[in-house]
Amino acid sequence: MSHKRRIINKSVWLCLAFSPVLFSCAEDATEFDFLDSESMSDDWVSVAETLTTTSEGERSRCKSLMQPRLIYSDDVNNIYTFYDLNRDVLFSNAIVESPAYDEYIAWLDEKNMEADVDVFDQRAVLIRQRDVFVKYLGEEHAYNFDLILDGRAGILSPMNCLQSIIFDIQNREHPLSEAPSEGLGAILRRKFADFYVFKIYAQTEGDYIPSTEKLREFVAKDVAAGWEWFVHMHNHPFMFDGPFDIAGTVIPSSPDLAAYESHRNQFGLKVGWITNGLDSLHLDTEEVDLFRQDF
Ligand SMILES: [Zn+2]
Repeated sequence: MSHKRRIINKSVWLCLAFSPVLFSCAEDATEFDFLDSESMSDDWVSVAETLTTTSEGERSRCKSLMQPRLIYSDDVNNIYTFYDLNRDVLFSNAIVESPAYDEYIAWLDEKNMEADVDVFDQRAVLIRQRDVFVKYLGEEHAYNFDLILDGRAGILSPMNCLQSIIFDIQNREHPLSEAPSEGLGAILRRKFADFYVFKIYAQTEGDYIPSTEKLREFVAKDVAAGWEWFVHMHNHPFMFDGPFDIAGTVIPSSPDLAAYESHRNQFGLKVGWITNGLDSLHLDTEEVDLFRQDF
C-alpha cells in the first residue's frame, strides 16, 4: 500500500469518527473510492474491530458515527445521508437517545390506557388487526398475518438501534403523536476486508404515503457504483382515530410487497424492515413470494 493511500484511509476514518464536527469532510460517495482499492491497511481493519466491541442495550451507545447530511428537499420530503460501519450496537436493542422519541413513548403510554389491546405487544396488535380485517374484509385476509404470527415468514423483534436512528429522524420532523406519517430508509453496504461500510439514507415524509421516486434515484446510482442495497425500511404509524383499526402493525401491505419484489429484481434488495417505533419485522425479500398479494 502506498503511503498516500494510507493517509487517505486515515483521513476517511477520522471523518467517520469525528463527523459531528467534521462531517463536511465526507461530501460525496466518491470520497470513499478507497473502498474499491484492492488493498486495505491492517490498522484500518483493527480500528473497525475496536468499534464493534460494545455492550448491547446501553442506550447512550446508540448513535450514528456521522451527522446525517441533508442532500435533497422538496415540499414534503427531506432526504439525509450518512455513513457508518457494521458495529454491533447498530443491531442491538439499544434505542437512540432522543427527546422526540421519549415523547412518542409517553404518547403511546397515554393511548395504551384507553386502548383495548396492549400497543406495546406487537403480536397482540397483529392479532387484533387480523381479526378486524377478517370481520370486515373476509377470511382470506388472515393469511398474511398468520404467516408472520406462526413464524413462517419474517422475524419479529424489538426495534434495533439503527432502525431507531432512522425512525427518530422522521419522528423529529413529523411527530407521529400529532399525525400519522411514514418515513423511509435505505441501507446500502459494501464489503471491505472483513467488515461492511454502510451508506444510509433517511427520507422524512410530510404526507402519509411516502413517495419513493427520489430515494430510488440515489440508490440506483449507488448500486450502479457497486453498493449493495441491503435494507429498505419504513415505519407504520399507529392511528388511534380509526373507527375499528388502530394500525401500528409491522405487516407488509400489498404495495410494500410489490415494492420489495420490484427492488429485489431491479436492484438486488436483500431485506425489508418495517417498524412501528417499538417492534420491527425483518423480512428477507425472497420471502415475499410466500405472501398473498391478491387483495
Ligand atoms: Zn408499509
